[in-house]
Amino acid sequence: GASLSKALPKSRPTRAVPKVQRRGYAIGSDIQITRTGKPIVSVSGGRSDLHFACHTATVFGATGFLGRYIVNRLARTGNTVVVPYREEMFKRHLKVTGDLGRVNFMEMDLRNTASIEESVRHSDIVYNLIGRDYPTKNFDLEDVHVEGVERIAEACAKYDVDRFVHVSSFNANKNSHSEFYRTKGLGEEVARSIFPETTIVRPSPCFGYEDRLLNRLASVTHFLTSNNMQERFRPVHAIDVGMALEAMMHDDSTASQTYELFGPEEFSMEEVAELVDREIISHRRHINIPKFIMKPFLNVLNKALWWPVGSADEVEREFIDQIVDKKAKTFKDLDIEPVSVKSQLYRYLQEYRISKYQDLPPMSEREKREEKKYLHVID
Ligand code: NDP
Repeated sequence: GASLSKALPKSRPTRAVPKVQRRGYAIGSDIQITRTGKPIVSVSGGRSDLHFACHTATVFGATGFLGRYIVNRLARTGNTVVVPYREEMFKRHLKVTGDLGRVNFMEMDLRNTASIEESVRHSDIVYNLIGRDYPTKNFDLEDVHVEGVERIAEACAKYDVDRFVHVSSFNANKNSHSEFYRTKGLGEEVARSIFPETTIVRPSPCFGYEDRLLNRLASVTHFLTSNNMQERFRPVHAIDVGMALEAMMHDDSTASQTYELFGPEEFSMEEVAELVDREIISHRRHINIPKFIMKPFLNVLNKALWWPVGSADEVEREFIDQIVDKKAKTFKDLDIEPVSVKSQLYRYLQEYRISKYQDLPPMSEREKREEKKYLHVID
């Protein structure tokens, strides 16, 4: 600093250069014309300065696990998001994902057509993430995966919404033994028959902070299964699925396509459980109960209890490996490289890690002889 000020001529005034905040359209054009000829105008400003386009998107099922990974992406880049919801408390975390006024909530019931129409009528893209792993008191799987989809697709067609992205499931197949896969398969057919340009998305079992895969394996001391954890699948990162869903909005060539979104590696449930055990440094016991006992037992339990305890169909699904439809498009077609579950284990499982490390070396000759491991308590 001193040598530099000496080198500068004395007469040269030193002044602070004002920081000019650049406003404008960072990428692409400021007006886009959608498939049905609607203009999408970009404006910039506010917290979400980085604008691509100001779409209006409805996300059904946004209050669930995957929902936040798409609402967050849409809202933070300045799109207006409509979130149909059922329960006040389930939607609150979504409000802060965008600027004031960007995230709007609409009360909705899957059997109330008017409420569905009200949710989609201002949007140019509708995502449907509504789904349930088990039948509930008021809705069986067909109500949710077929009739619900029918009502949403009909509303999209009625209000000439440009795009409909329907989240189905891996293994969706109308001839499956599993009611879940069967109704998901029928749902896809219904969506395409009413709204032929439907983009169908079939995610693999997802992992993330709120998942039902790593959390389930890490949180229970005894893990009950019926197929000895032999089912094989390709876990996918929830963030990658969110990224793919967002990319679909920006690329109209994804209309009418089917995407299978799966992770880079295939595992059996047992292999994932081993990875989880290693990461949390404790052993979760596994108990296998035959299918013929487990199914009726869960049927009774599911009816008697009012919190999710698993269902007979989930037992059936343990016996079905994931099959990837070779004809469907994948992450590659969206220029996304999916991450492996192995690389994210610490991130999602660190709170399950025990606070004592048993993997430190023995501290004395006696401990070495006895193969006793040193317990290190962090606090
Ligand atoms: P969640 O169970 O976490 O969320 C489901 C969403 O659907 C919630 O918003 C829920 O609303 C809504 N919903 C369920 N039943 C009804 C109903 N009868 N009426 C209105 N809304 C309803 O699921 P995910 O976020 O994990 O999954 C999203 C989609 O992706 C689902 O369709 C699922 O089948 C599919 N999928 C998920 C996979 C995964 O591993 N997570 C794997 C493959 C497919 P509310 O909050 O009010 O209950």
